[in-house]
Amino acid sequence: MVNPVKSAVRSSSVVVDYDHCSYCGACVAVCPPDCITLHDATLLIDTDVCTLCRRCIPACPTGALSLEDAA
Ligand code: SF4
Ligand code: SF4
Repeated sequence: MVNPVKSAVRSSSVVVDYDHCSYCGACVAVCPPDCITLHDATLLIDTDVCTLCRRCIPACPTGALSLEDAA
């Protein structure tokens, strides 16, 4: 599956495991810069705006979000 999370030149980024995401919107509600959006059944994270605050990770009830190092 193509991951729609944009890649960016930075050391790490929040990634979504779409096999576990239930599109509940909990992460959208806690993101301070509002860089997570739900479009139909696709969750998008604007990595240019993400501050890597990590609030979305524990807010996810299914553990679908994680912080991963860039390759
Ligand atoms: S790490 Fe923070 S800024 Fe980035 S998507 Fe999660 S809640 Fe939003
Ligand atoms: S909180 Fe988790 S399950 Fe809910 S929309 Fe965000 S990534 Fe998906």
